[in-house]
Amino acid sequence: MVNRVGLVYKLGDTYAVVMQEGASMKNGNETTQESGLPEVFGSNVFNDAVMRERLPKNIYRRLKATIEEGRELDPAVADVVANAMKDWAVEKGATHFCHWFQPMTGITAEKHDSFISPTSDGRIMMEFSGKELTQGEPDASSFPSGGIRATFEARGYTVWDCTSPVFIKRDGKNITLFIPTSFASYTGEALDKKTPLLRSMEALNNQATRVLRALGNTTSRRVTATLGAEQEYFLIDRQFVERRADLRFAGRSLFGAPPPKGQEMEDQYFGTLHERVASFMADLNEELWKLGVLAKTQHNEVAPAQHEIAPVFATVNIGVDHNQLTMEVLQRTARRHGFICLLHEKPFAGVNGSGKHNNWSIGTDDGINLLNPGSTPHDNMQFLVFLMAVIRAVHKYSSLLRATVATPGNDHRLGANEAPPAIVSIFLGDQLTDILSQLREGGANRSKQGGRLMLGVSHLPAIPKDTTDRNRTSPFAFTGNKFEFRMAGSSQSLSGPNFVLNTIVAHTLMEIADNLEGVKDVNSRVQKLLQEYAKEHEAIVFNGDNYSAAWVEEAGRRGLPNIRNCVDGINAMQEKDNVAVLVKHGTLTKGEIKARHEILLENYAKTIAIEARTMLQMARREILPAVVKFAGDVAVGMNAVEAAGETPAAQASLLRRLNGSAAELATAIDDLELAVGKAMSEKHAPERAVSFRDGVMPAMSALRRVADAVEPVMGSGYWPLPTYADMLFYR
Ligand code: ADP
Ligand code: MG
Repeated sequence: MVNRVGLVYKLGDTYAVVMQEGASMKNGNETTQESGLPEVFGSNVFNDAVMRERLPKNIYRRLKATIEEGRELDPAVADVVANAMKDWAVEKGATHFCHWFQPMTGITAEKHDSFISPTSDGRIMMEFSGKELTQGEPDASSFPSGGIRATFEARGYTVWDCTSPVFIKRDGKNITLFIPTSFASYTGEALDKKTPLLRSMEALNNQATRVLRALGNTTSRRVTATLGAEQEYFLIDRQFVERRADLRFAGRSLFGAPPPKGQEMEDQYFGTLHERVASFMADLNEELWKLGVLAKTQHNEVAPAQHEIAPVFATVNIGVDHNQLTMEVLQRTARRHGFICLLHEKPFAGVNGSGKHNNWSIGTDDGINLLNPGSTPHDNMQFLVFLMAVIRAVHKYSSLLRATVATPGNDHRLGANEAPPAIVSIFLGDQLTDILSQLREGGANRSKQGGRLMLGVSHLPAIPKDTTDRNRTSPFAFTGNKFEFRMAGSSQSLSGPNFVLNTIVAHTLMEIADNLEGVKDVNSRVQKLLQEYAKEHEAIVFNGDNYSAAWVEEAGRRGLPNIRNCVDGINAMQEKDNVAVLVKHGTLTKGEIKARHEILLENYAKTIAIEARTMLQMARREILPAVVKFAGDVAVGMNAVEAAGETPAAQASLLRRLNGSAAELATAIDDLELAVGKAMSEKHAPERAVSFRDGVMPAMSALRRVADAVEPVMGSGYWPLPTYADMLFYR
């Protein structure tokens, strides 16, 4: 497949492979040899080039058959592969291996074992067997299972996902061979985020290949989804984080009055990089490149202290793994530079929060991007069929898609004026919207063209214009040759959005294949189907301003769900059609969905509980005592002034204000404590989550309002916390 930077790759391979084969980070044949980057890139990855170099030919071929065609791996082959991996890892200083997995916590987990094995003469050998490579048995009882596992039923398995490359990671002095794995219970239920993603990829491949065959394609062997994840984050000086319990425990500030300057000057977005940040980014890139992550784009984001990194896209399961790695490396590298990297969706009130744009497409193993319209999309039947499959899927299952981004942190973004609203709609742009309306009328016969952009300066060349402008407010936007799902939160795993996208599109492709297979005149059947779908799904397309109040009303008239908060979002998973589609394509079983629903609600309640307890602690130990102390000092000063025969007018009004705030703080603290107690007393996860949402969250806001109101009138030596102004502007 040729992507926009001109790399050539085969699906199922990693980009690491491509880079090692002599392609380059730049265009075409250009290389970056001078910088040594090609040597650094992927140097800690057991990629295709290393495999070819270190494995006997027949073993290499058989492993590739497993990776590319999903053939079962012979244990004898696994033994040889494991041994080669071990030799390679040990040469690089590794002493341990670990099965790396993605439990329902949303972060990754690892358990390390050393390669050592005792010999009879009291020494050791370094050993690593095929069985150790392919299968592990971590104790599953302490991971969230949503009732699938009782704590006494501890057995869980990790199973090697050979389609995502093995790599070496250095944590301080510790060097370990990391093996990406799926994680399941003894009874075979998925306990992780990777397994459903892999299952959904199979479903998508099965149904998409059926459609391709029905359309006359005989050459493509596999269809895979691709993912490029744009990751936003904040960098805050470490000294401030150490002095703020909220940033340490909750990852976001729970108190903080707005600074005199926020983001209103719009001078941060794409602004010049602060030197300290630029050095951090250089290190970050190098770490990521070593791990085979194709870090590509970096820039300052809208809010002060906010930044973004984006890779070149990859096969979706590698893309998700790489995003998890990126989040880890961001945090570790930040610490080395004296920063803390905040991945929370809303670390600071009043300035933009962080999201993660999920750029998603589908491509074949022989290089066709099925969502590439070409220059005349109206006569690109294959493109129109796949486009319509996506539109239909997103319309029919919009609440399921919304459910995948239902996280406590995202509640601070979705629907606020900086992130897409909680209503799913699709931006198609002028050209495709026009084609859609032609299809509704019975057939498309022309494509609007973009024309040329003239700037009226003779030495600035006229450039071809895109066929449509961008729309930054859309939650699901067509962006040239891919869809960009923009609702995901910055801290979440991208597994959910992608296994849902893969599954729902697999489903609509299945419906299309059912309609086309065995039909003589495929062309006219496709025309008919496209017309039908174009009519049925007109309502999901919206090219206007998604942030406007008018759209919320309009969407209501169109019958599009508006799911306003995390708890309702999580509950949407359980809707009948949503469960049915996931079960039908084997992505999740009914039991697994029920368990996930429970885990997510529990997680919501636990997250808010931590935030509330952190607030209580900060308010009682730091904020209230500070206000009381300041008020006391003012009172003492007042007496002194009076004794000196003057009227302490300013002191009196300040004291009244401080004393009032202290009383309000005390009340708000008590109210919050009561609300937490009430929520905690709910026995079942759904009611507990609702009680945290409707009882605790408002009490938290009330406490914050009082504290934020008194902060600006506190003497600078009295306020116990680093302020927003301290934290958001580097010095
Ligand atoms: P923007 O959102 O600013 O338009 P880009 O055009 O640079 O950003 O693309 C954003 C992301 O989309 C990048 O990570 C890029 O690799 C990814 N991307 C490009 N093509 C595809 C594709 N076919 N499939 C998945 N992701 C893609
Ligand atoms: Mg984007």
